[in-house]
Amino acid sequence: MSKKKILTIVGARPQFIKLAPLCKKIDQYYQHCVVHTGQHFDDNMSKIFFEEMGIRKPDINLNIRGGLHGHSTGNMLIELEKVYVDKKPALVIVFGDTNSTLAGALVASKLCIPVLHIEAGLRSFDKHMPEEINRICTDHMSTILSAPTQTAITNLTNEGLTKNVYFHGDIMLEAHHYFMKHIKDSHHPSFTNQLNLSHHTFALMTLHRASNTDDKMVLTDIMTTLGNLNIPIIFPLHPRTKNKLTEFNIQCPSNIQCIEPVGYLDMLTLLKETSIVLTDSGGLQKEAFFVKKPCITLRDTTEWVETIHAGANRLVMDTPKKLNRDFLQQAIQSIDQYSFLGAPFGDGNTTDKIMDALG
Ligand code: UDP
Repeated sequence: MSKKKILTIVGARPQFIKLAPLCKKIDQYYQHCVVHTGQHFDDNMSKIFFEEMGIRKPDINLNIRGGLHGHSTGNMLIELEKVYVDKKPALVIVFGDTNSTLAGALVASKLCIPVLHIEAGLRSFDKHMPEEINRICTDHMSTILSAPTQTAITNLTNEGLTKNVYFHGDIMLEAHHYFMKHIKDSHHPSFTNQLNLSHHTFALMTLHRASNTDDKMVLTDIMTTLGNLNIPIIFPLHPRTKNKLTEFNIQCPSNIQCIEPVGYLDMLTLLKETSIVLTDSGGLQKEAFFVKKPCITLRDTTEWVETIHAGANRLVMDTPKKLNRDFLQQAIQSIDQYSFLGAPFGDGNTTDKIMDALG
């Protein structure tokens, strides 16, 4: 009997990380075709993750690069439709909340192909975020909804989505456990040494949400305010942020060390050794929680509310575009009062549960 055919759609950095623990398992039991849309294409945003995390090469790379949301999503729809018509998959898997997620799910649903959405049910309740629109639409087009948290299940229930909804836990926790052990066993060198930093006396920062980067005043305010903090900050620059800093002619303050994006393994060593995380990334808020490091989120909402309830994360924007200096000061000053209560992201065995749901 021939194996069921599954197409998996990825395109952005966090999706490669989510694919890592799942890919080999699907390869083993299904005819598996991995499609890379090309959304992230720089070597240090794409290739390094496949190499370091031992993910096999995508079967198809659509090489759809750059452009505004409508343009790039439109191109993905056109190209993915050709792939689906040709491959005739029994199921399509999409991850997270990017344009690749939306396009992957939309094409499948128009062709009546079932969709599994991994990381379903997350909501920031801020529809100005392009990611929020992608999440809502994808969930409503999906056939199987794999939720990372109980809050995500509640969000889906509140939108009338109750069928084939599963609490599978967070797939990034599984990747995190696996690769943390890997860097320990393989003695992966500490990236901190290369940066000439002493352990535990620096902050790790990432910043790439459009609300923080695309407005000159907002980005200038964030950089100036963080420049006044009395702590060295390591800042791996997302390509969008790098372009915007250049376009707006914003200089990095002297305490902020801008570096190129790093691979996942170097990111894990930075996470282990940092004293605090400053971020607007969804993934990094959780990873700070996994390693029990205080997190300051440069946003006014989060879809990972469990990190807030646990006492591990503070939001420091008043509105999507206004950094609140008082909140930031309080968050920094009370760094030893953070707590990490509960285990809201599951038991770290998400991929086994996903495989069960695949049938
Ligand atoms: N990450 C990385 N290198 C970097 C910055 C981030 O490996 O230079 C990892 C980070 O540890 C997390 C993931 O990328 O696992 C988060 O991706 P990103 O912030 O791009 O997306 P988001 O989580 O906001 O969707």
